[in-house]
Amino acid sequence: MPTTNIHSLVRENIRNLTPYRSARDDFDSGILLDANENSFGSTVRNQLDLHRYPDPTQDELREVIAGYRGVDVDNLFLGVGSDEPIDLLMRIFCEPGQDSIIITPPTYGMYKVSANINNVGVKEVLLSERFQLQPDKIKEAADDTTKLLFLCSPNNPTANDMKRTDLLKLCTSFPGIVVVDEAYIDFSKQESMAEMVQQYPNLVVLQTFSKAFGLAGIRLGVAIANPEIISFMMRVKAPYNINKLTADTALKAFDNRELLKFNIKKIREERQYVAEQLEHSDAVEKVYPSNANFLLFKIKRAKEVYENLAKLGVIVRYRGNEPHCENCLRVTIGMPDENVKFLRALKDVVG
Ligand SMILES: *Cc1c(COP(=O)(O)O)cnc(C)c1O
Repeated sequence: MPTTNIHSLVRENIRNLTPYRSARDDFDSGILLDANENSFGSTVRNQLDLHRYPDPTQDELREVIAGYRGVDVDNLFLGVGSDEPIDLLMRIFCEPGQDSIIITPPTYGMYKVSANINNVGVKEVLLSERFQLQPDKIKEAADDTTKLLFLCSPNNPTANDMKRTDLLKLCTSFPGIVVVDEAYIDFSKQESMAEMVQQYPNLVVLQTFSKAFGLAGIRLGVAIANPEIISFMMRVKAPYNINKLTADTALKAFDNRELLKFNIKKIREERQYVAEQLEHSDAVEKVYPSNANFLLFKIKRAKEVYENLAKLGVIVRYRGNEPHCENCLRVTIGMPDENVKFLRALKDVVG
């Protein structure tokens, strides 16, 4: 069992922080004359009392999401997309100009961007050629200043799951905080790591409403971790980070779980179809196995193909500059007619 002492990993100034107490932390009913809101009401008609500040801790929404993910409310943090928890973890654990993180390219670009913004060092330990983790190399790269390890499963842009045994091994062997980004977990057959936060005090699981729930526009991300980490995140976040429109929409998403399941099933079926069609193309050299809502494939002269597809109005992502991803394109699974148009355009482009 890991013996990570979370408290000692936290930056000293954050440890000593007296959190801001907002008016709504103290009272939320009565004649509310404490927050300089506009008592005459909002100029926009809406049932949500938009003239009042939102709940700083979003207890109702957290309760629902915690229930859905099989964890306790005090294991759950809500952020403005996943971007916010990624940034908060840097700010809580990494001393600028001194500490560092480990990332495992090819992977999601935001970890490095956020580290750069926070003046935090970035060490790269590549995935293997088969896009799997190399736990021994990660362990070798870690030292006292390496506070965070960012893993992504299913990984973007490679679309595959990281082996669960490797994820668990790293929770035990990595001396800092292990962040597992599960943005695409609902498309995967592999089980979420969320419930493992009960056993691993240094594990943070990130999820989002942007992908399977189809709510990228409301900017809602979730961090699941041990209550001590969650309480630090709560202390450092902006007091009213989750707005009422976002919370209201997210709650409504849970009224429609059948549609969520249906869309996930459809996306998986379409993924299968697009993968098969790509495999039939002579120009395509490899279609990588996917457990996400996109496919990574290797194609001759990928850069040119990417540009020519764009000329036909079909926009995919060129990933050929990433390690082990030479001549690779990433395509999101679209609506059935969009997928057909993509495949037709690809045929036109490669001749
Ligand atoms: C899309 C994506 C996210 C989602 O980010 P949000 O800020 O929640 O929209 C997170 N991680 C990865 C790896 C992604 O691909």
